[in-house]
Amino acid sequence: YEHRPRFHVHRIMNSGGKIPLGLKRKGLRIVVTGGAGFVGSHLVDRLIDRGDSVIVVDNFFTGRKENVMHHFGNPRFELIRHDVVEPLLLEVDQIYHLACPASPVHYKFNPVKTIKTNVVGTLNMLGLAKRVGARFLLTSTSEVYGDPLQHPQVETYWGNVNPIGVRSCYDEGKRTAETLTMDYHRGAQVEVRIARIFNTYGPRMCIDDGRVVSNFVAQALRKEPLTVYGDGKQTRSFQYVSDLVEGLMRLMEGEHIGPFNLGNPGEFTMLELAKVVQETIDPDAKIEYRPNTEDDPHKRKPDITKAKDLLGWEPKVSLQKGLPLMVSDFRQRIFGDHKDSSG
Ligand code: NAD
Ligand code: UDP
Ligand code: UDP
Repeated sequence: YEHRPRFHVHRIMNSGGKIPLGLKRKGLRIVVTGGAGFVGSHLVDRLIDRGDSVIVVDNFFTGRKENVMHHFGNPRFELIRHDVVEPLLLEVDQIYHLACPASPVHYKFNPVKTIKTNVVGTLNMLGLAKRVGARFLLTSTSEVYGDPLQHPQVETYWGNVNPIGVRSCYDEGKRTAETLTMDYHRGAQVEVRIARIFNTYGPRMCIDDGRVVSNFVAQALRKEPLTVYGDGKQTRSFQYVSDLVEGLMRLMEGEHIGPFNLGNPGEFTMLELAKVVQETIDPDAKIEYRPNTEDDPHKRKPDITKAKDLLGWEPKVSLQKGLPLMVSDFRQRIFGDHKDSSG
């Protein structure tokens, strides 16, 4: 394996992402695991635009080639079909580690595989970061707070997680991934970053992934009733994908390890979300109640003071602004037309 000297790049990175005047920023070599997925593919777009070289590592469990196809043929883009549970040798400067199904329907489909992805997959990517001296960013989740007893959730809150429930493969898996990340930092001096991502939506989400925003939008477009689980009074905070990607890049380039909550503090009950979807797509859309799933968190809303103060980051796109952008993408993928009647 070629191991190119990376000192030049590293001096730049270690200056907190700020490029000394008169010194042109050299393109970085960046791995994005899970880069063919929803969030990953939007991140890849930004990194390629910025002039970096990107290697996407993905096993296509929930990701799709269509999400990154527009980069095929670009010499700065590579796509590797690989499962992060297996070791991987690459020479890179940064690793954005996103590989892991995010929708509860997907991560519960094969829970043992989910926890292996979170634990063994993260271990392998940290081993890689250690070997080549790359900076490593973990995309953790608001689910590390479980069914939170503190509201809104601050990064110092340790959470309320069921270790033996149906969501544990994901939330305990991510908690272990955070632990591994900090242990590689303390024990092997790996430069690490941890993001705790709150519910995110936008174009390229899997249409039938079972998450609430994608479900409601697809249902309203198909003239099916919106399925509200439980009494619909549980809350979530919905972040538009471009805001998240901006936060992830600021975190990677900045000098703080985290963890940082990255989410939109706007809090909605599922019934309020249904109302916004009705207003955006179809005021006549009906609501149908369904039993809720096990261990469903009652409330969720990020406290983003830390990200505001230390990363200078906050979300810019409201649900009312972001939803129509997702609706035109869904409309196109569901009906195959290019019309956008979302207003
Ligand atoms: P996604 O399911 O669209 O993307 C995940 C990607 O990882 C897919 O392309 C999938 O094929 C790939 N993948 C899964 N297991 C893999 C494995 N073992 N090896 C290689 N590739 C694998 O999900 P997303 O919404 O884009 O989420 C990306 C990351 O952000 C995940 O780590 C998720 O836990 C985290 N996150 C997302 C949200 C959200 O609301 N979208 C919230 C919290 C955390
Ligand atoms: N690893 C990897 N790519 C690398 C270096 C390591 O996939 O470039 C994997 C390696 O196979 C191991 C894990 O990362 O399973 C942890 O590696 P580390 O060197 O930290 O631990 P060790 O191999 O000593 O157990
Ligand atoms: N939910 C719903 N209808 C759906 C899908 C989900 O009411 O069709 C609810 C679900 O019970 C949860 C919330 O929406 O309270 C968010 O669920 P999602 O699966 O999107 O993400 P989570 O935050 O639970 O990971």
